[in-house]
Amino acid sequence: MMPRYVNDMIAPGPPGLPLARPGPSFTPMTSMAQTGAAGIAPAKALIDGFGRRITYLRISVTDRCDLRCRYCMPEAMAFSPRSEILSLEEIAAIADAFVARGVRRIRLTGGEPLVRRGVPDLARMIGRHLATGGLDELTLTTNGTNLARNAQALFDAGIRRVNVSLDSRDPATFRHITRRGEVEKVLDGIAAATAAGLGVKINMVALKGLNEDEIEPMLRWCAAEGHDLTLIETMPLGWIEEDRTDRYLPLTGVREAMAARFTLTPLIDRTGGPARYYRVEELGARIGFITPLTENFCAGCNRVRITAGGMLYLCLGQDARADLRGALRAGGPAALDALLDEAMTRKPEHHDFHIDRRGAAPAVARHMSVTGG
Ligand code: SAM
Ligand code: SF4
Repeated sequence: MMPRYVNDMIAPGPPGLPLARPGPSFTPMTSMAQTGAAGIAPAKALIDGFGRRITYLRISVTDRCDLRCRYCMPEAMAFSPRSEILSLEEIAAIADAFVARGVRRIRLTGGEPLVRRGVPDLARMIGRHLATGGLDELTLTTNGTNLARNAQALFDAGIRRVNVSLDSRDPATFRHITRRGEVEKVLDGIAAATAAGLGVKINMVALKGLNEDEIEPMLRWCAAEGHDLTLIETMPLGWIEEDRTDRYLPLTGVREAMAARFTLTPLIDRTGGPARYYRVEELGARIGFITPLTENFCAGCNRVRITAGGMLYLCLGQDARADLRGALRAGGPAALDALLDEAMTRKPEHHDFHIDRRGAAPAVARHMSVTGG
């Protein structure tokens, strides 16, 4: 079967189709980006066994979190001992190694990245590659609870857009989903991010019977505030107290229902992620759908992930991995670089997510918060 798209090519759009709404949350590709991510590969590009070039790295800076979203982790989540966590300098050294091998975009994530002290300093260390042209973009995914006090420092470090998780704007529903969160704090964080000049994309996991009625209001709110919205299907990662089949809401159905009410114009994906984007013409909004369950997007995969303990995971939904911390500590940058080549041969072709069998075990035992969503 033909891949839906190939990650090191950017398909030209239909003539006259607007590529994106101009605005802070959408980064136009520069000629530098096209050289790095879409054009000629660096001499030692990271290419996996299926010919996919790796240009995108997600770094989980901690697996800890101040919330306990029901679809993500159990109430009594076991976190990694602090002794196993990479130092910020080690994370920066690993990021350097990936940038040298052609990675053009890095996202800091977690767990909740902003519960770890010094993350803006880490962003500054990695952000120096933005100034040299080694990196096109540095971004961050956060639950927003600590965003207000970090927004300016993140901007100063070179970050220009952040993804903020907001599954509900209703205080009671938000508290129920997160088990403890206060939605006002997140809304304050979003306002502070916007004031600091950061573009904001809202991530909303679509949950049957919990927030499905809020999807359209959320879209209208995002349109009014100038934020993009990405809807995400709940994925079977790690054990939680609930059966995910009870909350699974296939986004193909949500998109069909939306298309019956609005004009959805497909946009070319230039954000380097698996989301498919549409312009909602009547609202002037942009909406993305991340559909790992209903529409597989692995053929275009350009990414790998690192845990806070320095384990490289080659696929979100598989266990193939490589111990970068061990290599870095035992053999320094040369050993790390050699391990990257070896690891590429182990990147799986695709994930094997299924969520249709009640009571089935998760696809992998580790939670999204460990690998970094
Ligand atoms: N704590 C930050 C946050 O919530 O944005 C960053 C890490 S979180 C793991 C990244 C994203 O993954 C969030 O948008 C969250 O909603 C999503 N997520 C977590 N567990 C998920 C799951 N099992 N299925 C789908 N999305 C999930
Ligand atoms: Fe924490 Fe993010 Fe998981 Fe929610 S989704 S529990 S905020 S890591």
